[in-house]
Amino acid sequence: MPRPDLLARLAAAQAQRAHDGLLRQLRTVESVDGPRIVVAGKTLIDFASNDYLGLAQHPALREAMARAASRWGVGAGAAHLLGGHRDEHAALEEKLARWTQRERALLFSTGYMANVGVVGALLGNGDMCVQDKLNHASLIDAARLAGANLKRYLHADAAGAQRQLESNPEVAALLTTDGVFSMDGDVAPLVDLSTLCKTQSATLMVDDAHGLGVLGTDGAGSLSEAGLGQDDAPILMATLGKALGVAGAFVAGSAALIDGLVQFARSYVYTTAMPPALAAAASAAVDVAREDHERRARLHRHIAQFRHGCIARGIALMDSRTPIQSVLLGANATANMIALRLEDAGFYVPAIRPPTVPAGTARLRVSLSAAHAEADIERLLDALSAALRTESR
Ligand SMILES: *Cc1c(COP(=O)(O)O)cnc(C)c1O
Repeated sequence: MPRPDLLARLAAAQAQRAHDGLLRQLRTVESVDGPRIVVAGKTLIDFASNDYLGLAQHPALREAMARAASRWGVGAGAAHLLGGHRDEHAALEEKLARWTQRERALLFSTGYMANVGVVGALLGNGDMCVQDKLNHASLIDAARLAGANLKRYLHADAAGAQRQLESNPEVAALLTTDGVFSMDGDVAPLVDLSTLCKTQSATLMVDDAHGLGVLGTDGAGSLSEAGLGQDDAPILMATLGKALGVAGAFVAGSAALIDGLVQFARSYVYTTAMPPALAAAASAAVDVAREDHERRARLHRHIAQFRHGCIARGIALMDSRTPIQSVLLGANATANMIALRLEDAGFYVPAIRPPTVPAGTARLRVSLSAAHAEADIERLLDALSAALRTESR
């Protein structure tokens, strides 16, 4: 047998994906003005962004970044442990720990790296990683990379998680879940999972990429909303690139957790520290996210407006009270077609298809932002309703 050609194999996989209506397409955005983007010369209202609070272009963040860039320059120049750790990073870590009411926090360059770093530092061969079936890909990859025994349970099914833990009572176990699920928008049964982990002596890790800034007291996230402190949910991971409008991520928890991650999280140790100006921008973002209650209230008004509008038009939505509002369509071709219709009407609402979501559950994922105007949402509702009506004819 001749050795397979890797690039030919990749091309064949891509051809198959195109045939299945699953090809991903890179779009270049030519300009951004709040929720308006220009793609191929056409202005679209963006309903795909995770910038839920509309902070990515906020003047306070721009100024903080510019000020820090003139102080530090651009790159950190080294890993955190080798001189890359600046007072901007330290101050942001303290601020994030206070906000989430954890003892300490540690910055990572991305959420993907934070998940891989934490799970890899905690688990090895023979350990168990129990996960919700709909967890973010980075958590699944993290368990695989760590060599742990990955055990998944049905979505949001705490009893299923219990069965997995009980089936192996003697192995070290980490249970990880998204706080807010990235493609469905619903919130994990966090109180039940926390109780379960306590009774099973397992450690709970919550990925709150989509909850921070949106839910809880002062936007402190889904754990804050559920009333779960550090003893109830010892590992909190969240990102700075979604509601905070910047980039990067952090892990918050006990001093022992953070000290251990500094030693053993490989995606923390062996990588360049985030640019200090980015940390400064994130720090300004935390201030706005904590203090600008009206901005968060506007986001929640938009969520209510969208949901009421869908009900009034007979559009079925998935059960979600977060900015992630999905319209389940099922077939990939249907999702692609509705997305195209919406784009023709001036809206960017991408179709989300497998393998990002399970087979047969292709959908439109509408992300709402405080930056939208009520009229933007009203127009989207009308366009969505029209596109779905034409589809069903
Ligand atoms: C976006 C996301 C991540 C990855 O974060 P990045 O900073 O974009 O790498 C991790 N977990 C969840 C649930 C996410 O939605």
